[in-house]
Amino acid sequence: MMRQYELVERVQRYKPDVNEALLNKAYVYAMQKHGHQKRASGDPYFSHPLEVAAILTEMHMDEATIAVALLHDTIEDTTATRAEIDDLFGPEMGKLVEGLTKLKKLDLVSKKAEQAENLRKLLLAISEDVRVLLVKLADRLHNMRTLDHMPEAKRLRIAEETMDIYAPLAGRMGMQGMREELEEIAFRYINPEAYRAVTARLAEIFERNKGVLTDIEKALSALFEKHAINAGVKSRQKKPWSVFRKMEAKALSFEQLSDIFGFRVVVDTVEDCYRALGAIHTTWSMVPGRFKDYISTPKQNDYRSIHTTIVGPSRQRVELQIRTREMNKIAEYGVAAHSIYKDTGGKTNGAGHAISKETNAYAWLRRTIEQLAEGDNPEDFLENTKLELFQDQVFCFTPKGMLIALPRGATPIDFAYAVHTDVGDTCVGAKVNGRIMPLMTELKNGDEVEIIRSKAQVPPAAWESVVVTGKARAAIRRATKNAIRKQYSGLGARILERAFERAGKTFTKESLKPVLHRLARKDIEDVLASVGRGELASTDVMKAVFPDYKDERVTPAAPKQREEGWSKIRNAAGMLFQIPGRAARKDKDQPRDGAVPIRGVRGDLPVRFAPEGAVPGDRIVGIVQPGTGITIYPIQSPALQAFDDQPERWIDVRWDIDERTKERFPARVSVTAINAPGSLADIAQVVASNDANIHTLSMVRTAPDFTEMLIDLEVWDLKHLNRLLSQLKDNSSVSDARRVNG
Ligand code: MN
Repeated sequence: MMRQYELVERVQRYKPDVNEALLNKAYVYAMQKHGHQKRASGDPYFSHPLEVAAILTEMHMDEATIAVALLHDTIEDTTATRAEIDDLFGPEMGKLVEGLTKLKKLDLVSKKAEQAENLRKLLLAISEDVRVLLVKLADRLHNMRTLDHMPEAKRLRIAEETMDIYAPLAGRMGMQGMREELEEIAFRYINPEAYRAVTARLAEIFERNKGVLTDIEKALSALFEKHAINAGVKSRQKKPWSVFRKMEAKALSFEQLSDIFGFRVVVDTVEDCYRALGAIHTTWSMVPGRFKDYISTPKQNDYRSIHTTIVGPSRQRVELQIRTREMNKIAEYGVAAHSIYKDTGGKTNGAGHAISKETNAYAWLRRTIEQLAEGDNPEDFLENTKLELFQDQVFCFTPKGMLIALPRGATPIDFAYAVHTDVGDTCVGAKVNGRIMPLMTELKNGDEVEIIRSKAQVPPAAWESVVVTGKARAAIRRATKNAIRKQYSGLGARILERAFERAGKTFTKESLKPVLHRLARKDIEDVLASVGRGELASTDVMKAVFPDYKDERVTPAAPKQREEGWSKIRNAAGMLFQIPGRAARKDKDQPRDGAVPIRGVRGDLPVRFAPEGAVPGDRIVGIVQPGTGITIYPIQSPALQAFDDQPERWIDVRWDIDERTKERFPARVSVTAINAPGSLADIAQVVASNDANIHTLSMVRTAPDFTEMLIDLEVWDLKHLNRLLSQLKDNSSVSDARRVNG
């Protein structure tokens, strides 16, 4: 534990005329009052106010503020009273300690109305004397640093309150150092998995780029030396929380060095800032659109600096901040830097430490408090203030008045998932302020959002690219995965039903139980999904269930096929071929009104397949073609990229087939065959013997030894198609066979 004289020495280093007597008196008084009290960690309680005081010495606070820090928990937790503190330390300090005692009781993650009222009290207390905020933030910081010792249930609540209220407030007051540390610790408790993942990735990227960072630092230093600019150059790694938030907000991965590392150039004067900038821009090219001059136009929280990004010495993008020492101090300490014993000039009990009136932070607080005086509705106040406090967030409400905080750019889908995963999973529409709005609508502050739900809904995979919150994205991914699995196992069940029926048996799921081990599947669902996916052949299941079962489907097609007649097909070279199977459907390219067994489509819209086709077993998506209907694509089709920026055209569709479905479905395959007489006939024979149809066939490319052809087939389902492809590949005339867009 820090001793009395050490604390005095710390203050003396930046304030030589320190009022030692005041510090000593507060130290002894608080130590005696807390007596043998212990913290949750087992440490003497007094170590806490002492650490809070130490944090404030790092911010170069005056002795009155530090004395208040030492006393901040005495009224609440010991026999000390306001009157006693007034007596010993004067009414000004008594008032501050009492103010902090009241703040301690404010619950800022409570119900909306209470929360608004408490936030109002907090801001009022700050506006009266900014030292209240400084001590409160230092208090919170030490509590966060020692959060491990708290009971688990309390930890999350404290971390959330820190992330929602105290960290943004520190940022708003310009105290970036404080904000960053509060956010980092809160992040670790709120989302430990993400914290660990991001931290590990940052460390890995740092390890890989160590050399590059040194090179850049050296090149910058050499440049400033050449131009006789006195500058300190330092590399700076972005914090896991800010990296994570950026990734979450923009759905980006972090790869570029400039996303993670920045360089800070600190010089003596404002002129030097611009000279340094000139030297940098004439040496390396700047990245357009990244230059910002916060010196001529400071940010609302008084932050001043020049920002630019260049293509640096190692051809890497490098982000630079150029600022003076003074600006650097304000960027780090904000209002704390402004309020350092400026007004008291060494007096300990002088005028209060209001925020210096020239600062933007003061203007913000002023404006906020004026609003406070105007409206007496605390909820209005919350909307007007808290909203501004968190500029990168939007605050929306449920019809019942529950407050939902979302990142800027959030949609009703994000809102639904923020309320509850079930609400998100069953969301089919939204009313924003009473009007039905598209689910892609960007929500604004104060919007009231009502989610329209349907039990039958499965979240469309396309939503994943629309939402901005990690929670929604993860839930959609999970739901989509489950839905696909369900779809496959449903399909698998139907395939098995048919296979059993052909063998004159009745399929029951129970019949699979005794053969799970033989099929190397962990449960019945797993068998069904594997069959649906085509990983497990229905014949293998049949053989497992009925050891004397004979597979009839792989035997060559019955002569009946050929009796159906042959179609004539001309290839690109003008040669005439005959292929077996049904004649080409004339209506192939016409919309198949109502005939397409697909769910998720309004009955009145014509549906057609993409040119490359889609078959049951494919995961599919519908794209609305304005005026003409809906085109069905397999989800892996590259053609879908063309619609990436039109999420409103995507609709979730599913196959709707049962054992009576006698439809065949279009699929396009590319086959590369050896140029030899009879090879085309071979291919046609494989297709025919597999009970598939050739719709059209065209030669794409002819090399001396090989011919590539595109064949539009009609098949029963994905498994059928895959079996056909593998038999084509096995054929001695064929060098390659694969699905186009599959
Ligand atoms: Mn405390």
